[in-house]
Amino acid sequence: MPLFAKAQAMNLNERALAALQACVGSEHLRYHDDARTHADPYAFGSVHRAHPGAVVLPASVEELRAVLAVAREHRLPLWTVSTGRNLGYGGASPRTDGAVVVDLQRMNRVLEVNEELGYAVVEPGVRFLDLYAHLQQHGHRMLMSVPDIGWGSPIGNALERGFGYAPLWDHSAHLCGLEVVMANGRVVRTGMGAMEGNSAWHLYKGGFGPSIDGLLQQSNFGIVTRAGVNLMRQPESVVTCHVKTASPDDVGPLLALLRPLLLDGTIQSNAIIGNATVIASMMSERPRWWTGPGAMPEHAVAAMADALGLGRWNARFGLYGHPGMTIARSAIVRDALRALPGARMETREYSGDIDPAKAHPADHAQLGIPGTALVRMAAWRGGNPAHTDFSLVCPATEAHATRQLGLIQSTVEAQGFDYAGGFTLGGRHAIALALLSFDKDNADESARVHTLFEQLIDKSVAAGYAPYRAHPAFMDRISQAYGFNDHALRDVAESIKNALDPLGILSPGKQGIWPGRPGLNKDHT
Ligand code: ADP
Repeated sequence: MPLFAKAQAMNLNERALAALQACVGSEHLRYHDDARTHADPYAFGSVHRAHPGAVVLPASVEELRAVLAVAREHRLPLWTVSTGRNLGYGGASPRTDGAVVVDLQRMNRVLEVNEELGYAVVEPGVRFLDLYAHLQQHGHRMLMSVPDIGWGSPIGNALERGFGYAPLWDHSAHLCGLEVVMANGRVVRTGMGAMEGNSAWHLYKGGFGPSIDGLLQQSNFGIVTRAGVNLMRQPESVVTCHVKTASPDDVGPLLALLRPLLLDGTIQSNAIIGNATVIASMMSERPRWWTGPGAMPEHAVAAMADALGLGRWNARFGLYGHPGMTIARSAIVRDALRALPGARMETREYSGDIDPAKAHPADHAQLGIPGTALVRMAAWRGGNPAHTDFSLVCPATEAHATRQLGLIQSTVEAQGFDYAGGFTLGGRHAIALALLSFDKDNADESARVHTLFEQLIDKSVAAGYAPYRAHPAFMDRISQAYGFNDHALRDVAESIKNALDPLGILSPGKQGIWPGRPGLNKDHT
């Protein structure tokens, strides 16, 4: 069905468009082909390619509420993004064809920074880059957690359960106090914010009674319009640590060696562990190392690692605090690494208020400096760069990490791709990551990414593991795996969905949660 016909099937007719335009002004409504800006820029294979029917950009809570009123009246399915830079996981693309993307990038105010208590209050359109610039411009001596690529937003990233680095790396854990617009247009403030004028809104999540904050993460129950984001006071010093190991078999032992150091607080953040190929893709292109068919063979990976001075596995993390503390912590880590033959650790020491221009680029994330340089990883295979990411949760033990590695690497290589990935070690759990870079103009490559992604999901699920986050096209498939007791959890989520959003206007299909409204379910997409 042509794009606009699909949008009309979703009730997006001229009347509805005129009503949306009245909410935000003609400059802030895009439709027909103009809405393609919010399709998945990295769509691959025959993966269902949802195209937005329109994109609406409200600038305030009042404009957003007006958009919701139109959506209720016309029964329009919406899809919310903060800045829509969740690239690799579908970008701003909706789950359903013809849905109206509600893009909150114009709600971009930093509302407060509190140095004494360590938090900022932001709107969804504030990007990591913006918050950092704001802290710098106003001389706030605060350290924020940033992901590897900083063009997304603290709110969007945290709601998707994304993570960054430094002690506040767990973004969803460090949101505190939300403002949410519900499907019926009602504005809710969570936790202490439910009391008019309470001064502890962004300090204590709990409030009085049930907390609904978790219900707003990876969900389609409400639209978050502001949030408290924890910040840390700049420490006196930061020591960045880069561990390099000698053997391709080292990832299990390395992870097992670092885990106790995270659990006892010696390392105060997560640690990211990448193989030589993923690090090489941040610094170079594949044709420099291998132009033969299929996955890069072991000898080529070994030669590449040597030429670039990389470990076969490379861990990166930071140590934070008074120099006496960071020196002691780094000595403990170094001592522990003696148990892994051939492992070495490079460190760099910074004062907490380092001028970003003077920091080594490989240390930026650990220093809380957002950037976009790592986008080049998508260009690994040349052509028109695109990527998608596979992210699986597993216990942080040597046995599980080794098993994950075997499963993911063999599946990726069987499809002719290089395994570029590793683990983010969070303490008790690790997230196994595989970065799948491809040339989006190469139909064969793009089709193989699709097949590969399905295989990765199915094989992992058969082995007892599951992804925590995914491209919208795979949300139903993954949600199937979370099926304990005949999908009791999804049934609860769908009951809540139907109670809060009986017309099913908010992000239908998000995370496999579909509204009960007839005609709006996954068979309709
Ligand atoms: P980022 O700003 O980091 O690029 P996105 O805007 O792409 O993140 O958001 C990622 C996902 O998180 C969206 O697809 C949506 O499901 C959810 N999300 C983002 N912002 C909001 C919000 N303000 N309210 C509710 N859900 C949101």
